[in-house]
Amino acid sequence: MTATDALVRPEPAITEHFDVLIVGAGISGVGGAYHLSTQRPGTSFVVLEGLDSFGGTWWMHRYPGIRSDSDLHTFGYRFKPWVGAPIATAEEILKYMGDVIEENDLARHIRYNHRIASARWSSEDNRWTIDATDTATGEARRFTAGFLWMCQGYYRHSEGYTPEWPDMDKFEGQIVHPQTWPEDLDYKGKNVLVIGSGATTATVVPAIAADCAHVTVLQRSPTYFIPGRNRNDLAETLRELDIDEAWIHEIVRRKILHDQAIFTRRTFEEPEVVRRELIAGVRQFLGPDYDIETHFTPKYRPWQQRVAFVPDGDIFKGIASGKASMVTDEIDCFTPRGILLKSGEELQADIIVTATGFNLSVMGDIQFQIDGKPLDFADTVTYRGMMFTGVPNMLWVFGYFRASWTLRADLLADFVCRLLNHMDAKCAKRVDVTLRPEDKDMELLPWMDSNNFNPGYLMRSMHLLPKRGDKPEWQHTQDYWREKDEIPAIDLDGPEFIYS
Ligand SMILES: Cc1cc2nc3c(=O)[nH]c(=O)nc-3n(C[C@H](O)[C@H](O)[C@H](O)COP(=O)(O)OP(=O)(O)OC[C@H]3O[C@@H](n4cnc5c(N)ncnc54)[C@H](O)[C@@H]3O)c2cc1C
Repeated sequence: MTATDALVRPEPAITEHFDVLIVGAGISGVGGAYHLSTQRPGTSFVVLEGLDSFGGTWWMHRYPGIRSDSDLHTFGYRFKPWVGAPIATAEEILKYMGDVIEENDLARHIRYNHRIASARWSSEDNRWTIDATDTATGEARRFTAGFLWMCQGYYRHSEGYTPEWPDMDKFEGQIVHPQTWPEDLDYKGKNVLVIGSGATTATVVPAIAADCAHVTVLQRSPTYFIPGRNRNDLAETLRELDIDEAWIHEIVRRKILHDQAIFTRRTFEEPEVVRRELIAGVRQFLGPDYDIETHFTPKYRPWQQRVAFVPDGDIFKGIASGKASMVTDEIDCFTPRGILLKSGEELQADIIVTATGFNLSVMGDIQFQIDGKPLDFADTVTYRGMMFTGVPNMLWVFGYFRASWTLRADLLADFVCRLLNHMDAKCAKRVDVTLRPEDKDMELLPWMDSNNFNPGYLMRSMHLLPKRGDKPEWQHTQDYWREKDEIPAIDLDGPEFIYS
């Protein structure tokens, strides 16, 4: 579909209006619906979701073993205690989210199979017009809303990222991306080659290794992992003491966040020490003779990319048992039987899994217009990684990389509710963020400092994202510990907000 097609569509028979329209029923959108209905009970709102159920990431990823890589005490919402083991399967996360929807009567606000194609702001009406397609019937649906709450995540759900390697078409086996894992993929007794060594690989490999003839993990460069037990001792102790689950949730969250703050600080202050500790953690599982130097000694500073927690060291146990093995090399080309490496070695496989990451999607691939003019988000400057200059009445939930995503979804939900209350008190219909006089000469930089955080999907698509400035107000600092105090304290009458 071209940009013009998306905007010139058959007129839907009716237009429904809501005070707030939430895009996406993933963990952020469902959280937004909860906060809106509890903090602003009179607000009318709808959640539009392109898929046929809630869960987002946890609904559409179906590869074997799919699980979180951060703990659910902090990935869970602030308001709903997590009572299971820290690392959870997608099924457990969906059950938790389903409970939130049911307990708070949120289902009536959610419309599934509604894929949004365009969002147009009119300054005359102070409203967004949102055009969606009902993917079940093909019918056009139109909505208007006073405020747009973007909870569409950050990557394209329909397909993952697979680099173009020479001669891929010559491979006679099957090539699979974890994001579109075929339900009937038969890997039993097969040789499977997994390309990439991030969190997905750490999840898939232990889940399939026992059934495969062998699993080879091919990585261009090593990744950091934190092996540990999938159990939170503090939570268990508090449970033995019969403490209320709501208290346990709060205490355990504080303890985890306290420990993570120390860890994050140390990765900047003493990266070499942290690096040695992380590598020693892996060595414990693989023994003194394993070539850790080649396969598990990353070149980057810890935390420049997400560090995946590996429950009970399961991927390392697979390697130690001989069911899985690591190869660190580069791909020269695909061959009919597998992959030829730059070293000259050929890896043979029946199935190749490309665990090579995501394609970034800016605002759910929705075509935006402001007063009839197409909007390119790369031309905007972000206010704290949540609002954008020149884009009224809109907020995007982009979570944390070094802490659980949902911590920010909760914080920003409080912010949206506070902002809407403030607008009501001022009888304002529109809010914009704008650079202050002292920001006018500020250098505009790419969305993320690659020295701070540099995963491939961000590096590939940084040019599509809004710009950041050199002050905390004009960037997504990725610093939960700072934002937990700063965001609730934002002065909504500060010069960066304009109301009308
Ligand atoms: C495999 C995997 C594991 C992860 N593990 C963790 C973890 O352990 N901890 C952590 O903090 N983070 C993790 N993440 C990051 C994760 O994506 C976020 O934490 C979180 O789930 C994102 O939630 P969300 O609701 O913001 O977005 P999503 O889960 O991406 O949901 C967005 C929803 O919006 C819908 N949508 C998008 N565009 C449109 C449109 N145009 N029209 C209608 N609907 C639309 C989508 O269909 C989707 O349902 C993981 C990511 C992946 C892929």
